Amino acid sequence: MGMRKRTHMCGSVLTGDVGKQVVLKGWVQRARNLGGLIFVWLRDHTGIVQAVFDSTVLDPATFALAESLRGEFVIEVTGTVRSRAADAVNEKMATGAVEVAVDGLTVLNVSKTPPIYIDDDTNEQESLRLKYRYLDLRRPGLQSMLRFRHRVIKTLREYIDTLDFVEVETPILTKSTPEGARDYLVPYRLKPGLFYALPQSPQIYKQLLMLSGLDRYYQIARCFRDEDGRADRQPEFTQFDLEMSFVEPEDIQTVVEGAFQRVFQDVMNIPVSLPLKRITWRDAMARYGSDKPDTRFGMEISDVSETVRGCGFNVFETALENGQTVCAVCAKGAGKLSRRELDALGEFVKTYHVKGLAWAVPNEDGTVRSTFAKAMQGDSMSRLLARMDCQSGDALFVIADRRLVALTAMGQLRLRLGRDLGLIDTSRYDLLWVTEFPLLSFNEEENRFAAEHHPFTAVMDEDVPLMETDPGAVRAKSYDLVLNGVEMGSGSIRIHQSDLQSKMFSLIGLTLEEAQEKFGFLLEAFQYGTPPHGGFAFGIDRLVMVLSGADSLRDVLAFPKIQNGVCLMMDTPANVQQQQLDTLKITVDK
Ligand code: ASP
Repeated sequence: MGMRKRTHMCGSVLTGDVGKQVVLKGWVQRARNLGGLIFVWLRDHTGIVQAVFDSTVLDPATFALAESLRGEFVIEVTGTVRSRAADAVNEKMATGAVEVAVDGLTVLNVSKTPPIYIDDDTNEQESLRLKYRYLDLRRPGLQSMLRFRHRVIKTLREYIDTLDFVEVETPILTKSTPEGARDYLVPYRLKPGLFYALPQSPQIYKQLLMLSGLDRYYQIARCFRDEDGRADRQPEFTQFDLEMSFVEPEDIQTVVEGAFQRVFQDVMNIPVSLPLKRITWRDAMARYGSDKPDTRFGMEISDVSETVRGCGFNVFETALENGQTVCAVCAKGAGKLSRRELDALGEFVKTYHVKGLAWAVPNEDGTVRSTFAKAMQGDSMSRLLARMDCQSGDALFVIADRRLVALTAMGQLRLRLGRDLGLIDTSRYDLLWVTEFPLLSFNEEENRFAAEHHPFTAVMDEDVPLMETDPGAVRAKSYDLVLNGVEMGSGSIRIHQSDLQSKMFSLIGLTLEEAQEKFGFLLEAFQYGTPPHGGFAFGIDRLVMVLSGADSLRDVLAFPKIQNGVCLMMDTPANVQQQQLDTLKITVDK
């Protein structure tokens, strides 16, 4: 007996199968021994079905074997499907109206008692689950996540294939690509001291493919970035990466939003109407204090600098004299917050580098509970409240600081209030484009400009002259796709002229020699007829996380690492043999 062909999956034995002879294979979820009767829940990735071993019908050897079954044993059973008695029907189980009356059993493999219970409703410690990830993956939730992820990727591939994109695999052993993170390095055995870098993205390769005439490229690309101190990041992650020739930003956005529409429609059954909303980076910062605004609720930020000019409150007055900005939000319904809660919000915004938070809560009787009402002269307080449409029951919050710093802190406060006050409609999926990011951001520590996106991003035509006079004000032909306040991906039109690319490298502080050493091949390549081109990449892990409602990237990867980049299952990074180091001429300075 044993090794017959499987006739059914466990989850698919249903009332229509009553009377059929079946062969099932799977894992023992649990075995309940009631003396002469043993009930075994048999599990595979499709579900669980009950198998019944009856000592009055089975031969003694088979029944004895059934008595030896423990959790996670791998077995094959043969038997007949029958209806359960009405009082034995299990509504919670898809197969709960039937059971299999077993006539044959083969133990295909035994199992030690697993260190974690294999069930979706367990409270096992995450570190233990990750150490035994191969067992954790037996849980139905993770099984369906892997299949969900597969469907997302399959849908994307099918979609992009209809648009004449060609998938090209680009090297993993490569040279540093500047995406703003640290590289993972791989020593080169034949010349000690030389290293490959793992790609932070296929950026340079995909641009070179445009130069080669491929016209439309895509890749499900693994990217590697050595970043620390950021919650819920994985050192390696998967991007849907694409590049197109002879295009404007809208052409790329059309392809990308079409991909999102397809995934939402096919995988989630949620319609998305196109084109998506677009907002410039400038507007996004001004209205939401964020370059990835969550537009599922209002509470937009207002610049009230002109309203409070001359109000008499010295914090506002001094800020304005120093060229800073005063901005405000009105939180509807937040008037019920206690003094303690309001003060806690003040502490919260300080973590975003502003000096403080002023708040005012108008009372029914026309008086105002406030940190700064006393300092406001004349009707300046009522003018401010009126300007913000702040009524009794609401709360007004005001920040005065350098413009972007004030807006950013206010943006964080807006998000926190939105969450705390339950203003966010979590059933909504708000997708939008944020466009025209600044080309450069100023790095105060290093006292130099850095590329905001990456140094291959092209400049808005009308801003080219500013590159000489006011680099900080230059806008890029770049765009991010944002979903519910989370950045899904970014892209840009690229520089395709060698001289402009050199100028960009020098703007971000590379000397001619450094640019030559790092990117000489690219500058040379650009001299051989590079077509105008641009592209985009979005994170598949993050998309799957948002769509599946998972809490963490760890939940959407088969074999994730924990925050410090460690894989608990394989226990890596790990030591290597001294001989391996010797071959590579590496000495480790501990
Ligand atoms: N390489 C970029 C990134 O990984 C995306 C792009 O510009 O296409 O963010």
